[in-house]
Amino acid sequence: MRCPTGKNGYYSESEVQEALIRSHIRFVQAAKTYYKCHDCGEYHLTKQGELHPLLSTPEVKARIKREQQEQAWLGKLR
Ligand SMILES: [Zn+2]
Repeated sequence: MRCPTGKNGYYSESEVQEALIRSHIRFVQAAKTYYKCHDCGEYHLTKQGELHPLLSTPEVKARIKREQQEQAWLGKLR
C-alpha cells in the first residue's frame, strides 16, 4: 500500500536503519531518525526529532567515515 504521506516506506527496522546510515554517508538531506508510520505500518525516515542513538555508536560512526572517504575517492576518479 502506498503511504498517504508520500514517503518511502521500509518494511523492517533493519532496512530503515540501513537507509538512515546511508543518508548520512551521502551527506545531503541526512535524516535524523525514523519512525513507524500509523498510516501504512511501515517505517519512514524523518529529519525531525532527536538524532537516532544508532548514529552515535562507534561502529556506525566509523562506517560512515570510511564510506564517505571511499566516495570522495571515487568522486576524484570520475
Ligand atoms: Zn506511512
